[in-house]
Amino acid sequence: MAKVTIFEDTCKGCGLCTSACPKKILEINKGKLNAKGYHPAGITDQDACIACAACARICPDVAIEIEK
Ligand code: SF4
Ligand code: SF4
Repeated sequence: MAKVTIFEDTCKGCGLCTSACPKKILEINKGKLNAKGYHPAGITDQDACIACAACARICPDVAIEIEK
């Protein structure tokens, strides 16, 4: 099963991954602040991930890792 890891402290909350995800399971977590003071992205439904890696490719900060 696909596993998405978001390195929260690397994320700058730009939201690009949330737009790129075809399953719409990535969301900016407004309730959280990372070490840089940004709201990091998070995954809402790990089981729905199809491991397409669109999110990892679009992230300018290489903050997402996909395991298949
Ligand atoms: S790998 Fe694809 S389906 Fe999974 S979270 Fe990233 S963009 Fe969404
Ligand atoms: S694209 Fe990368 S930096 Fe931007 S919100 Fe997603 S994980 Fe964070």
